[in-house]
Amino acid sequence: MRRVKVAVNGFGTIGKRVAEAVLRQPDMELVGVVKVTPDYGARYAVSRGIKLYTLPDRVEAFRRRGIEVEGTLDELLDRVDVVIDATPGGTGAKYKPLYERKGVKAVFQGGEKPDVAEVSFSTLCNYEEALDRRSVRVVSCNTTGLLRAICTLSRLGRVQSVRATIVRRAADPKEVKRGPVNAIVPDPAQLPSHHAEDVKTVLRDLDIVTAAVVVPTTLMHVHVVYARLSSRVTREDVLSLFEDSPRIVLASASDGIKSTADVVELARDMGRPRYDVPELVVWADSVTVNGDEVMWMQAVHQESIVVPENIDAVRAVMGLARRAADTIRVTDETLGLRRGWLTGGPP
Ligand code: NAD
Repeated sequence: MRRVKVAVNGFGTIGKRVAEAVLRQPDMELVGVVKVTPDYGARYAVSRGIKLYTLPDRVEAFRRRGIEVEGTLDELLDRVDVVIDATPGGTGAKYKPLYERKGVKAVFQGGEKPDVAEVSFSTLCNYEEALDRRSVRVVSCNTTGLLRAICTLSRLGRVQSVRATIVRRAADPKEVKRGPVNAIVPDPAQLPSHHAEDVKTVLRDLDIVTAAVVVPTTLMHVHVVYARLSSRVTREDVLSLFEDSPRIVLASASDGIKSTADVVELARDMGRPRYDVPELVVWADSVTVNGDEVMWMQAVHQESIVVPENIDAVRAVMGLARRAADTIRVTDETLGLRRGWLTGGPP
């Protein structure tokens, strides 16, 4: 079987995780990654056997620091079928004409505007819509978390409306210039926050309103979600649905997972690379049902939740899997994602 040749442009928080996920796929080959700074991250990539490419005006800087580069972004694009753009938000749109000129398919991230790609993407909601497209945009981390839960819940009945409050982390762990350090910031102070619109790039007709506040933490986002279904359900229906579904795990406060710090501590104990938790974590204790109304709390690991969707997006645009279930099986097995309970079993 010919493996699809993949490039990753941008080797930061998302790019390095996606690149390492590509390395684990039986039907993909990571040809190289593009880095602009000849720093410890570049040396790390080389130590992992990943081939480095850079921009033409950066080649000399890499050589001066003794870091081998294989060539430029242009040359890398000549050698691949698909590029995963993981550059800072808004930069992908600037690269789009180059990707098109080179005839490579492109997977963009949620920091880009929706019109950067033919379709905004969430595996559990609209995998088939992305099949054979020239470009897709994997929605942001918060939107990915919301969409995984909503599209899973829709298996119990039509989701009529969603109201969600998003408690956002202030920065990623490696960032030193973002805040707040000591405040809670409505972001924005008007309703709805932009997350509702982003959800609607995938579920166009959904009645959804979101509110967001930023808090001083780097350890995950938390959502408080209220959804109304078209029919009555029971708490057991919802819990067993979440327990049986891919990309979602249950956690229990009564079992000691009382905060995002506990989720991260457990991920460390589990030996997860970079303590990543690509699964959406739903607090089982929080799941509350009142007729057709379902409420719950969930945690989103912003650095890793979109990684499986990026891998699925490559399979979709390259036509490597015609059904969502087929890509989910391979992605989740190769990346070691859990189903059921984050702890491995019910408490
Ligand atoms: P990042 O800043 O950690 O990484 C971006 C990388 O791109 C850096 O290594 C930077 O040096 C490099 N870069 C900068 N300019 C470049 C250029 N012109 N060409 C090539 N590389 C360049 O950013 P990130 O957090 O990985 O975010 C990347 C995308 O993923 C954004 O669209 C973001 O909105 C989205 N995203 C981020 C998160 C998150 O929590 N970090 C979650 C989901 C989605």
